[in-house]
Amino acid sequence: MASGSASLMWFRKGLRIHDNPALQYAAEGTKFLYPVFVIDPHYMEPEKNAFSLGSARAGLNRINFLLESLADLDSSLKKLGSRLLVLKGEPSEVLIRCLKEWEVEKLCFEYDTEPYYQALDFKVKNYASTAGIEVFSPVSHTLFNPTDIIQKNGGRPPLSYQSFVKLAGQPSSPLSHTLSSLPLVGDVGSCVISEVPTIKELGYVDIGQDESSPFRGGESEALKRLNEIINDKEWVATFEKPKGNPSAFLKPATTVLSPYLKFGCLSCRFFYQCLQDVYKNVKRHTSPPVSLLGQLLWRDFFYTVAFGTPNFDQMRGNRICKQIPWNDDDELLTAWRDARTGYPWIDAIMVQLRKWGWMHHLARHSVACFLTRGDLFVHWEKGRDVFERLLIDSDWAINNGNWLWLSCSSFFYQYNRIYSPISFGKKYDPNGDYIRHFLPILKDMPREYIYEPWTAPLSIQTKAKCIIGRDYPKPVVLHDSASKECRRKMAEAYALNKDLNGMVSEEDIRNLRRKLKEDPEQEAKNKRIR
Ligand code: FAD
Repeated sequence: MASGSASLMWFRKGLRIHDNPALQYAAEGTKFLYPVFVIDPHYMEPEKNAFSLGSARAGLNRINFLLESLADLDSSLKKLGSRLLVLKGEPSEVLIRCLKEWEVEKLCFEYDTEPYYQALDFKVKNYASTAGIEVFSPVSHTLFNPTDIIQKNGGRPPLSYQSFVKLAGQPSSPLSHTLSSLPLVGDVGSCVISEVPTIKELGYVDIGQDESSPFRGGESEALKRLNEIINDKEWVATFEKPKGNPSAFLKPATTVLSPYLKFGCLSCRFFYQCLQDVYKNVKRHTSPPVSLLGQLLWRDFFYTVAFGTPNFDQMRGNRICKQIPWNDDDELLTAWRDARTGYPWIDAIMVQLRKWGWMHHLARHSVACFLTRGDLFVHWEKGRDVFERLLIDSDWAINNGNWLWLSCSSFFYQYNRIYSPISFGKKYDPNGDYIRHFLPILKDMPREYIYEPWTAPLSIQTKAKCIIGRDYPKPVVLHDSASKECRRKMAEAYALNKDLNGMVSEEDIRNLRRKLKEDPEQEAKNKRIR
Protein backbone atom coordinates (compact mmCIF):
# COMPACT_ATOMS: atom_id res chain seq x y z
CA MET A 1 0.00 0.00 0.00
CA ALA A 2 1.40 3.38 -0.96
CA SER A 3 1.52 6.41 1.26
CA GLY A 4 1.48 9.82 -0.43
CA SER A 5 0.04 10.63 -3.83
CA ALA A 6 0.34 7.99 -6.53
CA SER A 7 -0.32 7.94 -10.24
CA LEU A 8 -0.42 5.05 -12.66
CA MET A 9 0.79 5.24 -16.25
CA TRP A 10 -0.83 2.48 -18.24
CA PHE A 11 1.23 1.65 -21.34
CA ARG A 12 -0.57 -0.16 -24.17
CA LYS A 13 0.66 1.41 -27.38
CA GLY A 14 2.66 4.63 -26.98
CA LEU A 15 5.69 2.57 -25.92
CA ARG A 16 7.99 5.57 -25.70
CA ILE A 17 9.34 8.32 -23.51
CA HIS A 18 9.49 11.09 -26.13
CA ASP A 19 6.34 13.07 -26.85
CA ASN A 20 4.23 11.12 -24.42
CA PRO A 21 1.69 13.51 -22.90
CA ALA A 22 0.07 10.81 -20.75
CA LEU A 23 3.43 9.94 -19.18
CA GLN A 24 4.30 13.59 -18.71
CA TYR A 25 1.03 14.33 -16.91
CA ALA A 26 1.30 11.15 -14.83
CA ALA A 27 4.72 12.29 -13.61
CA GLU A 28 3.64 15.79 -12.64
CA GLY A 29 3.06 16.61 -8.96
CA THR A 30 3.04 13.02 -7.77
CA LYS A 31 5.13 11.27 -5.15
CA PHE A 32 4.97 7.81 -6.74
CA LEU A 33 4.55 6.80 -10.33
CA TYR A 34 3.66 3.24 -11.36
CA PRO A 35 4.47 2.58 -15.05
CA VAL A 36 2.49 -0.53 -15.94
CA PHE A 37 2.20 -2.90 -18.88
CA VAL A 38 -0.26 -5.78 -18.69
CA ILE A 39 0.48 -8.94 -20.61
CA ASP A 40 -2.77 -10.29 -21.92
CA PRO A 41 -2.21 -14.08 -22.20
CA HIS A 42 -4.71 -14.25 -25.04
CA TYR A 43 -2.49 -11.90 -27.05
CA MET A 44 0.87 -13.29 -26.00
CA GLU A 45 0.75 -16.99 -25.11
CA PRO A 46 1.32 -19.77 -27.65
CA GLU A 47 -1.70 -21.10 -29.47
CA LYS A 48 -1.06 -24.53 -30.92
CA ASN A 49 -3.94 -24.48 -33.37
CA ALA A 50 -3.00 -21.29 -35.18
CA PHE A 51 -1.70 -21.56 -38.74
CA SER A 52 1.63 -19.97 -37.84
CA LEU A 53 3.78 -19.75 -34.72
CA GLY A 54 2.33 -17.28 -32.27
CA SER A 55 -0.65 -16.65 -30.03
CA ALA A 56 -4.35 -16.73 -30.87
CA ARG A 57 -4.09 -13.13 -32.09
CA ALA A 58 -0.55 -12.41 -33.20
CA GLY A 59 2.25 -14.10 -35.09
CA LEU A 60 5.60 -14.63 -33.41
CA ASN A 61 7.38 -11.79 -35.20
CA ARG A 62 4.98 -9.21 -33.78
CA ILE A 63 5.12 -10.70 -30.28
CA ASN A 64 8.90 -10.52 -30.49
CA PHE A 65 8.75 -6.93 -31.70
CA LEU A 66 6.50 -6.04 -28.78
CA LEU A 67 8.79 -7.73 -26.23
CA GLU A 68 11.79 -5.88 -27.65
CA SER A 69 9.85 -2.63 -27.44
CA LEU A 70 8.95 -3.32 -23.81
CA ALA A 71 12.54 -4.18 -22.89
CA ASP A 72 13.70 -0.94 -24.49
CA LEU A 73 11.03 1.04 -22.67
CA ASP A 74 12.03 -0.56 -19.37
CA SER A 75 15.66 0.35 -19.93
CA SER A 76 14.75 3.99 -20.77
CA LEU A 77 12.52 4.20 -17.69
CA LYS A 78 15.38 2.89 -15.55
CA LYS A 79 17.63 5.66 -16.87
CA LEU A 80 15.03 8.11 -15.56
CA GLY A 81 14.91 6.50 -12.11
CA SER A 82 11.86 4.33 -12.72
CA ARG A 83 11.11 0.91 -14.25
CA LEU A 84 8.39 -0.92 -16.13
CA LEU A 85 6.06 -3.02 -13.97
CA VAL A 86 4.92 -6.00 -15.99
CA LEU A 87 1.76 -7.78 -14.82
CA LYS A 88 -0.21 -10.59 -16.35
CA GLY A 89 -3.92 -11.28 -16.82
CA GLU A 90 -7.09 -9.79 -18.27
CA PRO A 91 -6.00 -6.14 -18.54
CA SER A 92 -9.00 -4.39 -16.97
CA GLU A 93 -9.09 -6.79 -14.01
CA VAL A 94 -5.36 -6.46 -13.40
CA LEU A 95 -5.51 -2.71 -13.68
CA ILE A 96 -8.42 -2.28 -11.30
CA ARG A 97 -6.62 -4.45 -8.76
CA CYS A 98 -3.54 -2.22 -9.03
CA LEU A 99 -5.57 0.97 -8.73
CA LYS A 100 -7.04 -0.31 -5.47
CA GLU A 101 -3.87 -1.77 -4.03
CA TRP A 102 -1.69 1.26 -4.74
CA GLU A 103 -4.35 3.84 -3.82
CA VAL A 104 -3.86 5.54 -7.15
CA GLU A 105 -5.25 9.05 -7.47
CA LYS A 106 -4.40 9.69 -11.10
CA LEU A 107 -4.65 7.22 -13.98
CA CYS A 108 -3.07 8.16 -17.33
CA PHE A 109 -3.09 6.32 -20.64
CA GLU A 110 -3.03 7.25 -24.31
CA TYR A 111 -6.43 7.45 -25.95
CA ASP A 112 -7.09 4.55 -28.32
CA THR A 113 -9.74 4.46 -31.03
CA GLU A 114 -9.69 0.68 -31.61
CA PRO A 115 -12.91 -1.10 -30.59
CA TYR A 116 -10.95 -3.51 -28.37
CA TYR A 117 -9.48 -0.64 -26.35
CA GLN A 118 -12.66 1.38 -26.37
CA ALA A 119 -14.41 -1.49 -24.60
CA LEU A 120 -11.52 -2.02 -22.19
CA ASP A 121 -11.22 1.68 -21.40
CA PHE A 122 -14.93 1.94 -20.75
CA LYS A 123 -14.64 -0.65 -17.97
CA VAL A 124 -11.57 0.93 -16.43
CA LYS A 125 -12.91 4.49 -16.65
CA ASN A 126 -16.17 3.38 -15.04
CA TYR A 127 -14.30 1.96 -12.10
CA ALA A 128 -12.07 5.05 -11.85
CA SER A 129 -15.02 7.41 -11.77
CA THR A 130 -16.78 5.47 -9.00
CA ALA A 131 -13.52 5.36 -7.03
CA GLY A 132 -12.89 9.09 -7.53
CA ILE A 133 -9.69 8.55 -9.52
CA GLU A 134 -8.72 11.26 -11.98
CA VAL A 135 -8.36 9.93 -15.55
CA PHE A 136 -6.20 11.60 -18.20
CA SER A 137 -6.35 10.01 -21.65
CA PRO A 138 -4.90 12.31 -24.31
CA VAL A 139 -4.90 11.78 -28.07
CA SER A 140 -1.30 11.24 -29.11
CA HIS A 141 -1.34 8.13 -31.28
CA THR A 142 -2.60 10.21 -34.21
CA LEU A 143 -1.89 13.72 -35.46
CA PHE A 144 -5.51 14.76 -35.07
CA ASN A 145 -8.36 13.82 -32.80
CA PRO A 146 -10.72 11.73 -34.97
CA THR A 147 -13.68 12.94 -32.88
CA ASP A 148 -12.89 16.58 -33.78
CA ILE A 149 -12.64 15.82 -37.50
CA ILE A 150 -15.91 13.90 -37.47
CA GLN A 151 -17.60 16.73 -35.63
CA LYS A 152 -16.25 19.30 -38.10
CA ASN A 153 -17.73 17.17 -40.87
CA GLY A 154 -21.23 17.22 -39.39
CA GLY A 155 -21.02 13.96 -37.44
CA ARG A 156 -19.73 11.68 -40.19
CA PRO A 157 -16.16 10.88 -41.13
CA PRO A 158 -14.90 12.35 -44.41
CA LEU A 159 -14.67 9.55 -46.95
CA SER A 160 -12.03 10.97 -49.25
CA TYR A 161 -8.43 11.84 -48.48
CA GLN A 162 -8.83 15.29 -50.02
CA SER A 163 -11.80 16.21 -47.84
CA PHE A 164 -10.00 14.80 -44.80
CA VAL A 165 -6.91 16.94 -45.48
CA LYS A 166 -9.04 20.05 -45.97
CA LEU A 167 -10.87 19.51 -42.68
CA ALA A 168 -7.79 18.51 -40.73
CA GLY A 169 -5.55 21.52 -41.41
CA GLN A 170 -2.39 21.56 -39.28
CA PRO A 171 -1.98 19.48 -36.13
CA SER A 172 -2.31 21.79 -33.15
CA SER A 173 -1.11 19.98 -30.04
CA PRO A 174 2.42 21.00 -29.09
CA LEU A 175 4.77 18.10 -28.44
CA SER A 176 5.21 17.24 -24.79
CA HIS A 177 8.49 18.07 -22.99
CA THR A 178 11.49 15.83 -22.83
CA LEU A 179 11.57 14.16 -19.42
CA SER A 180 14.82 14.20 -17.48
CA SER A 181 13.70 12.16 -14.46
CA LEU A 182 10.63 10.35 -13.16
CA PRO A 183 9.12 9.94 -9.69
CA LEU A 184 9.96 6.77 -7.78
CA VAL A 185 7.94 3.62 -8.13
CA GLY A 186 6.00 3.09 -4.87
CA ASP A 187 5.54 -0.11 -2.92
CA VAL A 188 3.88 -2.71 -5.14
CA GLY A 189 2.20 -4.54 -2.25
CA SER A 190 0.86 -7.95 -3.10
CA CYS A 191 0.66 -7.38 -6.89
CA VAL A 192 2.78 -9.88 -8.80
CA ILE A 193 5.29 -7.96 -10.86
CA SER A 194 7.76 -9.44 -13.32
CA GLU A 195 10.51 -8.31 -15.61
CA VAL A 196 9.75 -8.08 -19.33
CA PRO A 197 9.57 -11.77 -20.29
CA THR A 198 11.65 -13.35 -23.01
CA ILE A 199 9.94 -15.16 -25.85
CA LYS A 200 10.95 -18.46 -24.22
CA GLU A 201 9.47 -17.43 -20.88
CA LEU A 202 6.18 -16.90 -22.68
CA GLY A 203 6.29 -20.57 -23.64
CA TYR A 204 7.76 -20.40 -27.14
CA VAL A 205 10.31 -23.16 -27.46
CA ASP A 206 11.82 -24.82 -30.54
CA ILE A 207 11.11 -21.79 -32.64
CA GLY A 208 13.48 -22.86 -35.41
CA GLN A 209 12.59 -20.19 -37.96
CA ASP A 210 15.16 -20.07 -40.71
CA GLU A 211 14.71 -16.34 -41.15
CA SER A 212 12.97 -13.94 -38.80
CA SER A 213 12.12 -10.27 -39.07
CA PRO A 214 15.20 -8.09 -39.54
CA PHE A 215 13.45 -5.19 -37.75
CA ARG A 216 14.08 -4.84 -34.02
CA GLY A 217 11.44 -3.28 -31.79
CA GLY A 218 11.72 -0.29 -29.49
CA GLU A 219 11.88 3.47 -29.21
CA SER A 220 15.70 3.60 -29.46
CA GLU A 221 15.62 1.71 -32.74
CA ALA A 222 12.74 3.90 -33.99
CA LEU A 223 14.59 7.13 -33.25
CA LYS A 224 17.77 5.79 -34.82
CA ARG A 225 15.86 4.85 -37.95
CA LEU A 226 14.05 8.19 -38.04
CA ASN A 227 17.34 10.03 -37.63
CA GLU A 228 18.93 8.24 -40.57
CA ILE A 229 15.91 9.05 -42.73
CA ILE A 230 15.70 12.68 -41.72
CA ASN A 231 19.42 13.19 -42.29
CA ASP A 232 18.92 12.30 -45.94
CA LYS A 233 17.08 15.51 -46.78
CA GLU A 234 17.14 14.90 -50.51
CA TRP A 235 15.49 11.50 -50.08
CA VAL A 236 12.78 12.96 -47.82
CA ALA A 237 12.18 15.95 -50.11
CA THR A 238 11.78 13.79 -53.23
CA PHE A 239 9.87 10.88 -51.64
CA GLU A 240 6.96 10.06 -53.89
CA LYS A 241 4.51 7.22 -53.54
CA PRO A 242 3.52 5.08 -55.40
CA LYS A 243 6.92 5.48 -57.06
CA GLY A 244 9.51 3.23 -55.46
CA ASN A 245 10.49 -0.36 -55.93
CA PRO A 246 8.34 -2.93 -54.10
CA SER A 247 10.91 -5.65 -54.72
CA ALA A 248 13.77 -3.80 -53.00
CA PHE A 249 14.51 -5.80 -49.89
CA LEU A 250 18.16 -5.20 -49.07
CA LYS A 251 17.35 -1.52 -48.74
CA PRO A 252 13.56 -1.07 -48.70
CA ALA A 253 12.22 1.81 -50.78
CA THR A 254 10.17 3.31 -47.93
CA THR A 255 10.97 4.15 -44.29
CA VAL A 256 9.84 0.91 -42.54
CA LEU A 257 8.68 3.08 -39.67
CA SER A 258 5.22 1.45 -39.68
CA PRO A 259 5.84 -1.09 -36.89
CA TYR A 260 7.27 1.68 -34.70
CA LEU A 261 4.25 3.88 -35.37
CA LYS A 262 1.92 0.96 -34.74
CA PHE A 263 3.26 0.36 -31.22
CA GLY A 264 3.90 4.05 -30.66
CA CYS A 265 7.66 3.52 -30.26
CA LEU A 266 7.74 6.55 -32.53
CA SER A 267 5.42 9.51 -32.10
CA CYS A 268 3.72 10.34 -35.40
CA ARG A 269 3.60 13.96 -34.19
CA PHE A 270 7.36 14.03 -33.73
CA PHE A 271 7.83 12.39 -37.14
CA TYR A 272 5.53 15.05 -38.66
CA GLN A 273 7.52 17.84 -37.03
CA CYS A 274 10.82 16.42 -38.28
CA LEU A 275 9.42 16.30 -41.82
CA GLN A 276 8.24 19.91 -41.59
CA ASP A 277 11.75 20.92 -40.48
CA VAL A 278 13.28 19.20 -43.51
CA TYR A 279 10.78 20.81 -45.88
CA LYS A 280 11.62 24.26 -44.49
CA ASN A 281 15.27 23.72 -45.33
CA VAL A 282 15.02 22.52 -48.93
CA LYS A 283 14.16 24.39 -52.10
CA ARG A 284 11.54 21.99 -53.31
CA HIS A 285 9.70 19.01 -51.91
CA THR A 286 6.85 16.68 -52.80
CA SER A 287 3.36 17.21 -51.32
CA PRO A 288 0.44 15.11 -50.08
CA PRO A 289 -0.86 12.63 -51.03
CA VAL A 290 2.44 11.33 -52.45
CA SER A 291 4.97 12.89 -50.03
CA LEU A 292 6.20 11.29 -46.83
CA LEU A 293 4.14 13.74 -44.81
CA GLY A 294 1.23 12.73 -47.04
CA GLN A 295 1.71 9.11 -45.87
CA LEU A 296 1.17 10.20 -42.28
CA LEU A 297 -2.03 11.88 -43.36
CA TRP A 298 -3.18 8.62 -44.97
CA ARG A 299 -2.68 7.03 -41.58
CA ASP A 300 -4.81 9.63 -39.85
CA PHE A 301 -7.40 9.45 -42.62
CA PHE A 302 -7.94 5.72 -42.05
CA TYR A 303 -8.01 6.20 -38.27
CA THR A 304 -10.74 8.78 -38.62
CA VAL A 305 -12.93 6.79 -41.01
CA ALA A 306 -12.44 3.61 -38.98
CA PHE A 307 -13.41 5.35 -35.75
CA GLY A 308 -16.53 6.90 -37.25
CA THR A 309 -17.81 3.86 -39.16
CA PRO A 310 -19.74 1.14 -37.32
CA ASN A 311 -18.63 -2.36 -38.34
CA PHE A 312 -15.68 -0.93 -40.25
CA ASP A 313 -13.90 -4.29 -40.07
CA GLN A 314 -16.57 -6.30 -41.84
CA MET A 315 -18.69 -6.28 -44.97
CA ARG A 316 -22.07 -6.83 -43.33
CA GLY A 317 -23.51 -3.81 -41.60
CA ASN A 318 -20.76 -1.54 -42.88
CA ARG A 319 -22.41 1.32 -44.70
CA ILE A 320 -19.31 2.31 -46.66
CA CYS A 321 -18.62 -1.22 -47.89
CA LYS A 322 -19.95 -2.62 -51.16
CA GLN A 323 -21.73 -5.93 -50.70
CA ILE A 324 -19.98 -8.45 -52.92
CA PRO A 325 -20.64 -12.21 -53.23
CA TRP A 326 -17.09 -13.29 -52.39
CA ASN A 327 -16.52 -17.01 -52.48
CA ASP A 328 -15.58 -19.23 -49.56
CA ASP A 329 -12.86 -21.23 -51.21
CA ASP A 330 -10.64 -22.36 -48.35
CA GLU A 331 -8.35 -24.22 -50.70
CA LEU A 332 -7.54 -21.07 -52.65
CA LEU A 333 -7.21 -19.06 -49.45
CA THR A 334 -4.75 -21.56 -48.02
CA ALA A 335 -2.72 -21.66 -51.22
CA TRP A 336 -2.42 -17.85 -51.05
CA ARG A 337 -1.67 -17.78 -47.34
CA ASP A 338 0.97 -20.52 -47.57
CA ALA A 339 2.69 -19.09 -50.66
CA ARG A 340 1.56 -21.88 -52.96
CA THR A 341 -0.35 -20.03 -55.68
CA GLY A 342 2.20 -20.98 -58.34
CA TYR A 343 2.78 -17.29 -59.13
CA PRO A 344 6.31 -16.57 -57.87
CA TRP A 345 5.75 -12.83 -57.45
CA ILE A 346 2.72 -13.46 -55.22
CA ASP A 347 4.30 -16.34 -53.33
CA ALA A 348 7.55 -14.46 -52.67
CA ILE A 349 5.58 -11.60 -51.13
CA MET A 350 3.66 -14.02 -48.93
CA VAL A 351 6.94 -15.56 -47.78
CA GLN A 352 8.29 -12.11 -46.97
CA LEU A 353 5.11 -11.50 -44.95
CA ARG A 354 5.57 -14.68 -42.98
CA LYS A 355 9.30 -14.29 -42.42
CA TRP A 356 9.68 -10.55 -42.02
CA GLY A 357 6.18 -9.36 -41.11
CA TRP A 358 6.67 -6.42 -43.44
CA MET A 359 6.37 -5.84 -47.19
CA HIS A 360 6.39 -2.77 -49.39
CA HIS A 361 3.05 -1.07 -49.95
CA LEU A 362 2.81 -2.11 -53.62
CA ALA A 363 3.67 -5.68 -52.73
CA ARG A 364 0.72 -5.59 -50.33
CA HIS A 365 -1.36 -4.19 -53.19
CA SER A 366 -0.36 -7.09 -55.43
CA VAL A 367 -1.27 -9.89 -53.04
CA ALA A 368 -4.46 -8.23 -51.74
CA CYS A 369 -5.72 -7.62 -55.27
CA PHE A 370 -4.79 -11.18 -56.30
CA LEU A 371 -6.69 -12.75 -53.39
CA THR A 372 -9.84 -10.68 -53.86
CA ARG A 373 -11.04 -8.91 -56.99
CA GLY A 374 -8.02 -9.73 -59.18
CA ASP A 375 -7.91 -13.51 -59.35
CA LEU A 376 -9.22 -15.67 -56.52
CA PHE A 377 -12.35 -13.73 -55.53
CA VAL A 378 -11.89 -14.70 -51.88
CA HIS A 379 -13.40 -12.46 -49.19
CA TRP A 380 -11.18 -9.53 -48.17
CA GLU A 381 -11.92 -10.28 -44.50
CA LYS A 382 -10.00 -13.58 -44.84
CA GLY A 383 -6.96 -11.84 -46.28
CA ARG A 384 -7.23 -9.14 -43.66
CA ASP A 385 -7.09 -11.84 -40.96
CA VAL A 386 -3.88 -13.29 -42.40
CA PHE A 387 -2.26 -9.83 -42.56
CA GLU A 388 -3.54 -9.00 -39.08
CA ARG A 389 -1.79 -12.00 -37.68
CA LEU A 390 1.49 -11.87 -39.59
CA LEU A 391 2.33 -8.19 -40.05
CA ILE A 392 4.59 -6.61 -37.45
CA ASP A 393 2.89 -3.31 -38.23
CA SER A 394 -0.62 -4.83 -38.14
CA ASP A 395 -2.92 -1.94 -37.34
CA TRP A 396 -6.67 -2.28 -37.01
CA ALA A 397 -7.70 0.94 -38.78
CA ILE A 398 -5.03 0.92 -41.49
CA ASN A 399 -5.21 -2.77 -42.31
CA ASN A 400 -8.99 -2.84 -42.64
CA GLY A 401 -8.97 0.46 -44.54
CA ASN A 402 -6.48 -0.82 -47.08
CA TRP A 403 -8.24 -4.16 -47.55
CA LEU A 404 -11.47 -2.27 -48.19
CA TRP A 405 -9.55 -0.19 -50.72
CA LEU A 406 -7.75 -2.99 -52.51
CA SER A 407 -10.82 -5.19 -52.81
CA CYS A 408 -12.73 -2.24 -54.33
CA SER A 409 -15.20 -2.53 -51.47
CA SER A 410 -14.73 1.10 -50.48
CA PHE A 411 -12.70 4.25 -51.24
CA PHE A 412 -11.47 2.97 -54.64
CA TYR A 413 -13.83 1.61 -57.25
CA GLN A 414 -11.88 0.97 -60.46
CA TYR A 415 -12.22 -2.77 -60.35
CA ASN A 416 -11.08 -3.06 -63.96
CA ARG A 417 -7.58 -2.09 -62.93
CA ILE A 418 -6.03 -5.36 -61.86
CA TYR A 419 -2.38 -5.96 -60.99
CA SER A 420 -0.85 -8.67 -63.13
CA PRO A 421 0.85 -11.29 -60.93
CA ILE A 422 3.41 -11.65 -63.75
CA SER A 423 4.24 -8.34 -65.39
CA PHE A 424 3.85 -6.01 -62.39
CA GLY A 425 6.80 -7.37 -60.44
CA LYS A 426 8.85 -7.93 -63.60
CA LYS A 427 8.76 -4.21 -64.31
CA TYR A 428 10.81 -3.52 -61.17
CA ASP A 429 12.92 -6.63 -60.94
CA PRO A 430 13.34 -8.35 -64.32
CA ASN A 431 15.95 -10.74 -63.00
CA GLY A 432 13.66 -11.85 -60.19
CA ASP A 433 16.21 -11.31 -57.39
CA TYR A 434 13.40 -10.76 -54.90
CA ILE A 435 11.78 -14.06 -55.91
CA ARG A 436 15.11 -15.91 -55.77
CA HIS A 437 15.69 -14.61 -52.24
CA PHE A 438 12.30 -15.46 -50.77
CA LEU A 439 11.65 -18.58 -52.88
CA PRO A 440 15.06 -20.27 -53.07
CA ILE A 441 13.51 -23.28 -54.82
CA LEU A 442 13.41 -21.02 -57.90
CA LYS A 443 16.89 -19.60 -57.50
CA ASP A 444 18.30 -21.35 -60.56
CA MET A 445 15.33 -20.72 -62.83
CA PRO A 446 16.48 -18.69 -65.85
CA ARG A 447 15.45 -15.08 -65.91
CA GLU A 448 13.01 -15.51 -68.82
CA TYR A 449 10.93 -18.01 -66.82
CA ILE A 450 11.26 -16.73 -63.27
CA TYR A 451 7.84 -15.04 -63.25
CA GLU A 452 6.13 -17.89 -65.17
CA PRO A 453 8.09 -21.03 -64.36
CA TRP A 454 5.31 -23.33 -65.62
CA THR A 455 6.15 -22.17 -69.16
CA ALA A 456 9.74 -23.41 -68.89
CA PRO A 457 10.43 -26.59 -70.94
CA LEU A 458 10.98 -29.66 -68.79
CA SER A 459 14.68 -29.73 -69.67
CA ILE A 460 15.07 -26.22 -68.24
CA GLN A 461 13.07 -27.14 -65.13
CA THR A 462 15.28 -30.17 -64.64
CA LYS A 463 18.43 -28.13 -65.01
CA ALA A 464 17.05 -25.56 -62.54
CA LYS A 465 16.29 -28.41 -60.11
CA CYS A 466 12.70 -27.31 -59.88
CA ILE A 467 9.98 -29.35 -61.54
CA ILE A 468 6.74 -27.42 -61.67
CA GLY A 469 3.92 -29.42 -60.12
CA ARG A 470 6.37 -31.31 -57.92
CA ASP A 471 8.91 -28.90 -56.40
CA TYR A 472 6.90 -25.75 -56.92
CA PRO A 473 3.13 -25.60 -57.62
CA LYS A 474 1.39 -25.03 -60.91
CA PRO A 475 -0.68 -21.83 -60.97
CA VAL A 476 -3.89 -22.24 -58.94
CA VAL A 477 -5.83 -20.25 -61.53
CA LEU A 478 -5.10 -18.94 -65.00
CA HIS A 479 -4.69 -15.23 -64.54
CA ASP A 480 -6.22 -14.18 -67.87
CA SER A 481 -9.48 -16.03 -67.49
CA ALA A 482 -9.68 -15.68 -63.69
CA SER A 483 -9.27 -11.92 -63.81
CA LYS A 484 -11.84 -11.67 -66.59
CA GLU A 485 -14.27 -13.65 -64.48
CA CYS A 486 -13.55 -11.45 -61.45
CA ARG A 487 -14.36 -8.33 -63.48
CA ARG A 488 -17.65 -9.89 -64.55
CA LYS A 489 -18.58 -10.68 -60.95
CA MET A 490 -17.57 -7.23 -59.75
CA ALA A 491 -19.65 -5.60 -62.48
CA GLU A 492 -22.70 -7.63 -61.44
CA ALA A 493 -22.15 -6.87 -57.77
CA TYR A 494 -21.68 -3.15 -58.40
CA ALA A 495 -24.88 -3.09 -60.47
CA LEU A 496 -26.77 -4.79 -57.65
CA ASN A 497 -25.44 -2.33 -55.06
CA LYS A 498 -26.44 0.53 -57.33
CA ASP A 499 -29.93 -0.83 -58.02
CA LEU A 500 -30.63 -1.40 -54.35
CA ASN A 501 -28.97 1.84 -53.29
CA GLY A 502 -26.53 -0.07 -51.09
CA MET A 503 -29.32 -1.83 -49.15
CA VAL A 504 -28.23 -5.31 -50.22
CA SER A 505 -29.52 -8.10 -47.99
CA GLU A 506 -27.86 -11.46 -47.30
CA GLU A 507 -30.49 -13.05 -49.48
CA ASP A 508 -29.68 -10.70 -52.37
CA ILE A 509 -26.05 -11.74 -52.06
CA ARG A 510 -26.99 -15.43 -52.01
CA ASN A 511 -29.10 -14.98 -55.12
CA LEU A 512 -26.33 -13.17 -56.91
CA ARG A 513 -23.85 -15.85 -55.90
CA ARG A 514 -26.17 -18.46 -57.36
CA LYS A 515 -26.60 -16.51 -60.57
CA LEU A 516 -22.85 -16.05 -60.96
CA LYS A 517 -22.26 -19.76 -60.43
CA GLU A 518 -24.65 -20.63 -63.24
CA ASP A 519 -21.75 -21.03 -65.56
CA PRO A 520 -19.83 -23.91 -63.92
CA GLU A 521 -17.98 -24.59 -67.14
CA GLN A 522 -16.43 -21.17 -66.95
CA GLU A 523 -15.59 -21.69 -63.27
CA ALA A 524 -13.90 -24.96 -64.09
CA LYS A 525 -11.95 -23.36 -66.90
CA ASN A 526 -10.48 -20.82 -64.51
CA LYS A 527 -8.97 -23.40 -62.26
CA ARG A 528 -6.16 -25.67 -63.28
CA ILE A 529 -6.33 -29.11 -61.73
CA ARG A 530 -4.69 -28.56 -58.35
P1 FAD B 1 6.16 4.75 -45.64
O1 FAD B 1 5.83 4.84 -47.08
O2 FAD B 1 7.53 5.09 -45.23
O3 FAD B 1 5.10 5.67 -44.89
C1 FAD B 1 5.31 6.22 -43.59
C2 FAD B 1 4.12 5.88 -42.72
O4 FAD B 1 2.91 6.39 -43.28
C3 FAD B 1 3.89 4.40 -42.57
O5 FAD B 1 4.75 3.86 -41.62
C4 FAD B 1 2.43 4.35 -42.19
O6 FAD B 1 2.24 4.62 -40.82
C5 FAD B 1 1.84 5.50 -42.99
N1 FAD B 1 1.28 4.97 -44.24
C6 FAD B 1 1.92 4.71 -45.39
N2 FAD B 1 1.06 4.24 -46.32
C7 FAD B 1 -0.13 4.19 -45.74
C8 FAD B 1 -1.42 3.79 -46.17
N3 FAD B 1 -1.66 3.35 -47.41
N4 FAD B 1 -2.43 3.85 -45.29
C9 FAD B 1 -2.23 4.31 -44.03
N5 FAD B 1 -1.04 4.70 -43.57
C10 FAD B 1 -0.01 4.64 -44.41
N6 FAD B 1 0.07 -0.21 -42.79
C11 FAD B 1 0.17 -0.39 -41.47
O7 FAD B 1 0.84 0.42 -40.80
N7 FAD B 1 -0.46 -1.43 -40.85
C12 FAD B 1 -1.21 -2.33 -41.54
O8 FAD B 1 -1.78 -3.24 -40.93
C13 FAD B 1 -1.31 -2.18 -42.94
N8 FAD B 1 -2.02 -3.07 -43.70
C14 FAD B 1 -2.09 -2.89 -45.07
C15 FAD B 1 -2.85 -3.80 -45.82
C16 FAD B 1 -2.93 -3.66 -47.20
C17 FAD B 1 -3.77 -4.62 -48.01
C18 FAD B 1 -2.25 -2.60 -47.84
C19 FAD B 1 -2.33 -2.42 -49.33
C20 FAD B 1 -1.54 -1.68 -47.09
C21 FAD B 1 -1.46 -1.80 -45.71
N9 FAD B 1 -0.74 -0.87 -44.92
C22 FAD B 1 -0.65 -1.06 -43.55
C23 FAD B 1 -0.30 0.42 -45.49
C24 FAD B 1 1.13 0.48 -46.01
O9 FAD B 1 1.38 -0.55 -46.89
C25 FAD B 1 2.15 0.48 -44.89
O10 FAD B 1 1.85 1.46 -43.94
C26 FAD B 1 3.55 0.78 -45.42
O11 FAD B 1 3.89 -0.08 -46.46
C27 FAD B 1 4.53 0.66 -44.28
O12 FAD B 1 5.83 0.85 -44.71
P2 FAD B 1 6.63 2.17 -44.38
O13 FAD B 1 6.59 2.47 -42.94
O14 FAD B 1 7.95 2.01 -45.01
O15 FAD B 1 5.78 3.27 -45.16
